[in-house]
Formats: sequence, C-alpha cells, structure tokens
Amino acid sequence: MMTADSVRTPVLIAPARKAQPAPGLVVDRPLPGPEIDYLDPFLMLDHFGPDVVAPGERGGLNPHPHRGFETVTVMLEGAMEHHDSQGNHGVIGPGDVQWMTAARGIVHAEYREGEFARRGGRLQGIQLWVNLPRAQKMREPGYQDLGARRIRAVPVQGGDVRVIAGDFGGVTGPAHTFSPLAVLHIKLDAGGRAGIPVAGDWNAGAYVIRGSVTSGGQRIGEREMGVFEPGLASIELAAEGASEILLLAGQPIGEPVVSWGPFVMTTREEIVQAQRDYALGRMGTLEARA
Ligand code: MN
Repeated sequence: MMTADSVRTPVLIAPARKAQPAPGLVVDRPLPGPEIDYLDPFLMLDHFGPDVVAPGERGGLNPHPHRGFETVTVMLEGAMEHHDSQGNHGVIGPGDVQWMTAARGIVHAEYREGEFARRGGRLQGIQLWVNLPRAQKMREPGYQDLGARRIRAVPVQGGDVRVIAGDFGGVTGPAHTFSPLAVLHIKLDAGGRAGIPVAGDWNAGAYVIRGSVTSGGQRIGEREMGVFEPGLASIELAAEGASEILLLAGQPIGEPVVSWGPFVMTTREEIVQAQRDYALGRMGTLEARA
C-alpha cells in the first residue's frame, strides 16, 4: 500500500504559453517557460492543435536541422508525414509516436500527411524534445517509428496508461532511450485514478492535454504541467472530468545545457561547431516539398 507521505506533491504548476516555433505554427508550450526552463532530461513540450484543417490546406515545417537531442512526436488526431536527410520516411496518425534521435545532426521536414490534408480534419499532437547525454550527442542519428499497435495500454481505475517509454504495470514501452526515462500517455474517465511509481531521484512532470486532475493535493488544469522534483516515490493522479495526461519522468542527466535554436549541446563552442557543420551540409540535406 502507498501511504500518503510517499506521494509527491507538484512543486509548481506551469501553464502553457503561446509560442511560435516556425512561421505560421502556433503551439501551447508549458516547457520551457518562466516557471521552469528545464525538466532534465526533458527540454521542451509543444502541444499543437486541435486545429481544424480545411480540405486541401497543406502545412508543416520545411527542412530544418537538429543536433544534440531527440524529437518525439505523439500524434493525437490527424496525420503527419516525416522525411529526413538519413532517408527515413514515416506517417504517424492517432496514437502513433515518432522518436527521432537527431544526435550528431539530421535535417528533417514535418508536413501534414497528403491524404489527411486533402480531406481535412482535426490535427492535434505533442512534440517533446528530450536531451541526450553528452557522450551520445555525436552518435549516429536514429529513427524509431512506434505505431499505436506497438504501444501497450495498462488498465488503471477508470482509464488506461499507454506505455511509450519506460516501465509501468509490468509493461516496458517500445522506445529505446539513451538515459533512463518514462513517457506515459494516460486517459482517465471522471473519477479515474492512476498511481505512477517514479524512482526517487527522477524528475517528473504531468502535462494535462485535456480535462483536469488533482495530484498530491494540488490541481493541474487543462494545458498546465505539474512539476515534481526528485524525492518521494509515487505520483498520484485523480481525474476531475474525462482527462488525458502526458506523464514525463526521467533521471536527470545533470550536464550543462547550451542551446541555440535547433541545436542543444553542452558548450558554446559546440554550438558554433553545429552552426558551421550545418552550413557545410554535414548534417545532410533535404529538398523542400514542391
Ligand atoms: Mn524538427
């Protein structure tokens, strides 16, 4: 049995604020923000949509580079298409996850998938930026296409927990990660509850995609992130209404973070090197869509 004093209380609630990662793309971003600039190893959480896309309305991000971390896209509604300079190509729809390890450098494009764009419809998802330990930042890039069928759901009281990365309820998520972490996609009916054991030295954050929850005596509203510092064992979530939560937890990497736009390294010199390498085409190249 979990006793009340082994339950973590959020040390702060970070509301999402509007951010514009690219021209024409507006997202809700709780991390980073004025309340918390880094939930080591999680660098960023962008929640896009739900947007109603009109039939025939294309959109997305033209080719751009990344180095030093991973981009993780959790699709909720609609479909996106990905191309990169390593020759990877994938389509993700509702429930699918794309886990891209930029590492020493990749150039990718993220567009609305063609058939979805022709028909139109609702588009919603989350993109996380997950830091890499310094020793892995210059490794070969990688790409994991984690289809919804590979992501198992563990039933909890009044809901379920989809295990994308890490362990929960005897299930290990399909994502390979470079530091110990967990990404859990939780759906709860009104009154539903989930208790998530988290290692005492891990950071954690619970982002409410939709609905609202109480946790450790605090309320986390829609599009807010409850932030839990390392310490006590378990995170308890109780849904007030039907709710959807993305729970992030991970062992802190504990290294310096120096970031500039799409590059996240540990020193300024490494950022300058990344800018130079990109300009010289050393992260590969990718044609923009016609
Ligand atoms: Mn990108």
